Amino acid sequence: MTGDSAYAAAPFDHGKADIILRSSDNIDFRVIKLFLSLASSSLETLLHIPQSTEASNDREIKDGLAVIRMQENNKTLDTLLRFCYPCTLAEDPKLKVAEDLVEVLEASRKYSLDTIERKVHRALSNHETLKAEPLRCFAIARRGRAHKETLLAAKYKLTQPLIPSWFQGIGLITATDLLALLTYHQKCGDTVYALKNDLSWIESHHRSSKACAWFSSENRPNPRSSETSKGEKGKRGKKGEKGERGKKEKVVYASESDDSRCQCIGSTTAKYRLFGSQSREWWEDFMEVTFLGLRDKPCRTTVESFVAKTVQSVRAQGCPNCSFNIANYMRDFSKLLTRKVEEGVSKIDLNLVYSTSSTV
Ligand SMILES: [Zn+2]
Repeated sequence: MTGDSAYAAAPFDHGKADIILRSSDNIDFRVIKLFLSLASSSLETLLHIPQSTEASNDREIKDGLAVIRMQENNKTLDTLLRFCYPCTLAEDPKLKVAEDLVEVLEASRKYSLDTIERKVHRALSNHETLKAEPLRCFAIARRGRAHKETLLAAKYKLTQPLIPSWFQGIGLITATDLLALLTYHQKCGDTVYALKNDLSWIESHHRSSKACAWFSSENRPNPRSSETSKGEKGKRGKKGEKGERGKKEKVVYASESDDSRCQCIGSTTAKYRLFGSQSREWWEDFMEVTFLGLRDKPCRTTVESFVAKTVQSVRAQGCPNCSFNIANYMRDFSKLLTRKVEEGVSKIDLNLVYSTSSTV
């Protein structure tokens, strides 16, 4: 007898079915062998049992069909079978990133259902999902031994604070893996944060102070050319003729290039000097908060978010030069910083330990 198993819904109740697959939670799927055999040679082997309608000790018959007990539960089996069936009978199911995806992944690997495995990988690599739930994707990919997707999810984790709060799928992740992930995140943060200690990467990008004059503010009322005079005379003053206004009532840190109208306050510290030049205060503030942010979340989003805030606050300060040009200044610097952040992160390895039975 069949015990208390129930039949699955359409299309797995088909009258022309020639075998029954019973899920681990006792749902019987009446299926057509041909579809499964075509989808997977492993399934074909599994289904290749001698034709007989008689029950025996090791064989169960239900409604005249042989019953094969599967290790997969009802939900996983339903997903796999729908993928195996032609679309005229069953549409491919949408794969949601949830904990049961691990079982789908393992089963698709077990039965060599490569197409399904690829689809699971694709679901785990979805940008929007990774953005919303990087830790859940990490836990599922790691448990499902999807190596590439695990690394990808670890990268997306960098968009969140170092110490996570509770997340869906936390039960799937081992303490060892979580520790490896947090260590990776911390190393990425430290590596990126170290960029602020040596700004030669900005200098070598711009090659001359002229090319990045927008950040500079000589810390004295009058422009001085001693430190950066080479080749910059021609440009200096070209657009600065009407820039003298405001020089008396406020300390004007006229800089190189076309920024002589700048009325921004200059930094009083020696931080973030480039080509020997003092920076404007807003740039120092930007660097301070951005690098603090990057230490916690070393990723493009952090750069973009602080750039946007800086553009807004500089505009609010009303400098006749910077409030108009800040977006341009920061656009280029944002690209450079993002590239450096991504370069830094790419050098850090996620040290996960793979057991010897793991094949990925
Ligand atoms: Zn300014």
